[in-house]
Amino acid sequence: MPRFHLTWGTGPGVVAPFAERVEAHIEAGLIQPRFRHQVSHIITQGGIVKGVSGEVLASDDAPQGARTNRQEIGEFEVYAPSVLVASGGIGGNLDAVRKNWPVDRLGPAPRRMVSGVPFHVDGRMIPITEAAGGHVINADRMWHYTEGLRNWDPIWPNHGIRILPGPSSMWFDARGDRLPAPYLPGFDTLGTLREILKTGQDYSWFILSQKIIQKEFALSGSEQNPDLTAGKWGEVLRARLLSRGKAPAPVEAFKKHGADFVVADTLSELVAGMNELGELPLEETHLRRQIEARDAQADNPFAKDAQLIAINAARNYRGDRLIRTAKPHRLLDRANGPLIAVRLNILTRKSLGGLQTDLDGQLIGADGATVPGLFAAGEVAGFGGGGYHGYNALEGSFLGGCLFTGRQAGQSRAIA
Ligand SMILES: Cc1cc2nc3c(=O)[nH]c(=O)nc-3n(C[C@H](O)[C@H](O)[C@H](O)COP(=O)(O)OP(=O)(O)OC[C@H]3O[C@@H](n4cnc5c(N)ncnc54)[C@H](O)[C@@H]3O)c2cc1C
Repeated sequence: MPRFHLTWGTGPGVVAPFAERVEAHIEAGLIQPRFRHQVSHIITQGGIVKGVSGEVLASDDAPQGARTNRQEIGEFEVYAPSVLVASGGIGGNLDAVRKNWPVDRLGPAPRRMVSGVPFHVDGRMIPITEAAGGHVINADRMWHYTEGLRNWDPIWPNHGIRILPGPSSMWFDARGDRLPAPYLPGFDTLGTLREILKTGQDYSWFILSQKIIQKEFALSGSEQNPDLTAGKWGEVLRARLLSRGKAPAPVEAFKKHGADFVVADTLSELVAGMNELGELPLEETHLRRQIEARDAQADNPFAKDAQLIAINAARNYRGDRLIRTAKPHRLLDRANGPLIAVRLNILTRKSLGGLQTDLDGQLIGADGATVPGLFAAGEVAGFGGGGYHGYNALEGSFLGGCLFTGRQAGQSRAIA
């Protein structure tokens, strides 16, 4: 399965072949798009799914991703030999996330979370599909990130942005204790989530230097990555290599305006700023001891600090050394730029469980029998079947699951 991840400089190329085919099918009359049509009901006759009905919503010129109006201006019914639900996950609906939270594996759900997906990713189609005979499995499998920022310039409600971190930021829990290996930036999302929540708090801290932020911070989301979407490798290289001591513009904007950032010249000032943002007070001496212990090994290529070992390993690869991983340096050395602390929030993202289907994408009801005429694909089906990903994921393998399950259903004999 192809991975769709960090498509630096080539983002539009990932979408283009699919968009072109859809446009050609629209042109040929094979697809009729119905924008602003909200499905609220799946029509069933004699136990067989026959179509969908719902409300026509008023048009809205909100930008992509923003919350749109729900003003109903009419109703519709559409009949078809088969219905395929592809309505996405639940991550924009924090009540649903909390309801399905895996308390036995992760403890109680976080009190505070930011939303890593737009408002329309609301899981509304799930009960609608259940009413037509569908059935959800593995609902407690969700993929939430631990490096969420409150967006200072939000597009959707409670908009969170994920940092795609390089390996060098020091990571501390809410009490100021450094997270143990392997809970290092970019290593183990669910393991780190569990480790952070063990403190009874729902946030953690990165502490880093200007040298690290300028090379290692990328922000997830197309609007944060002009270089990802520019379609030009030159833009990527310019943003990363000709940075003149600055991070890419969207990252610098977060550093300046973001509510979760503290920038300071000394550790004392940094800790004072962190204590204004955090729930638990932090001790400067406790943080200093841990940072100095790490700094003491920064110049040693045979460092035994697990994170420095990982950094040195990453830098063995030329691509990482050039644009992704800062040369190890002492964080407390003023020559490496101001110190930066970032309060990291839990950020909702992907639903790894969902509507149960067979290999053709046909829904399986709670009784184990397939539901005639009803199919599901993409994130609403946990990227396939109700969760064929399992309870873990390889970054960038989500879109692949969406495309693959849609293709499976479309090419199956079962779909009419
Ligand atoms: C910021 C961000 C970064 C990501 N990065 C990656 C990445 O790098 N790699 C990767 O593989 N995945 C990534 N993902 C995940 C991936 O984008 C999603 O899992 C995927 O787009 C889900 O596709 P889908 O078609 O199943 O659902 P969606 O794309 O959510 O589409 C569902 C559609 O159904 C519509 N809908 C819902 N309910 C109704 C209704 N009742 N009536 C009518 N229409 C309805 C919605 O409006 C929406 O248009 C990312 C997601 C986000 C938010």
